[in-house]
Amino acid sequence: AASTPVRTRFAPSPTGFLHLGGARTALFSWAFARHYGGTFILRVEDTDLERSTPEAVQAILDGMTWLGLTPDEGPFFQMQHMDRYREVVAQMLSAGTAYHCYSSPDEVEAMRERARAAGQKPRYDGTWRPELGKKLPPIPADRKPVVRFKSPQDGATAWVDMVKGPISFDNTELDDLVIARPDGTPTYNFCVVVDDWDMRITHVLRGDDHVNNTPRQITILRALGAPIPEYGHVPMILGPDGEKLSKRHGAVSVMEYDRDGYLPEGMINYLARLGWSHGDDELFTREQLVAWFDPQHLSKSAAQWDPKKLNWVNAHY
Ligand code: GLU
Repeated sequence: AASTPVRTRFAPSPTGFLHLGGARTALFSWAFARHYGGTFILRVEDTDLERSTPEAVQAILDGMTWLGLTPDEGPFFQMQHMDRYREVVAQMLSAGTAYHCYSSPDEVEAMRERARAAGQKPRYDGTWRPELGKKLPPIPADRKPVVRFKSPQDGATAWVDMVKGPISFDNTELDDLVIARPDGTPTYNFCVVVDDWDMRITHVLRGDDHVNNTPRQITILRALGAPIPEYGHVPMILGPDGEKLSKRHGAVSVMEYDRDGYLPEGMINYLARLGWSHGDDELFTREQLVAWFDPQHLSKSAAQWDPKKLNWVNAHY
């Protein structure tokens, strides 16, 4: 509702420096919150222990400080929310919106194989999914279960994307997602859901590599009785050659631009224009960006990195 105060978040995984794509997503979330007098939150998604490093956390914080994208709340760290995730898993188990699944990884793989052979989308076959009047198999000895979300099986999960417009997924496409592993640790989508709920996030702007996660997150939020944020999925940035950003073009830390003498204000202006437009305006201040920003004018197609344009913009600061 219009009366709900706007709360956005930037939720980087600390597996590397803050690159241009991440910086642009952070900028859009920041500008959106500022435009509506809302709150911009920084949440570090550090649950991937193999790939997350303290150096990457620091590199992200440095990049955001350089660009002046100061969070109003945070940084928060998902590793510090583990008890909370476990608590919500337990709540869902007792509410019957999640269940223990004792199928082994090999058994699940065999189910997927059978579905594939039958020309269907590979999926878990629901062996352990409790239904009224259904008899579950005997619990295998010495096996720790995963916890699966009891995903709705009919209807569709739809939202009007702030960038891409209406998107709908048939619920038969959504598997019963694993929300906790045999050792009890929560999985990626589940942590995002619980944090977005607890942080009362109203608008999620993120890369469109997350579009397929959104229906899963929405169905879990619904099962929790949580409000559903608005979602906007921003297309990726391509290199000047139309290929994925390379090290030579932009797939580097924003701090390298600091070292090369670029000004943060020029970088902000250029990044904002990369996939967002305000009429013919090429040059604008941070204040104008905040006054003008709206996700409706985010481009539906991939933006192209243009070092010449960056130099041109930077030269005006
Ligand atoms: N941690 C995710 C990433 O770095 C972002 C998740 C999100 O914004 O929902 O890609």
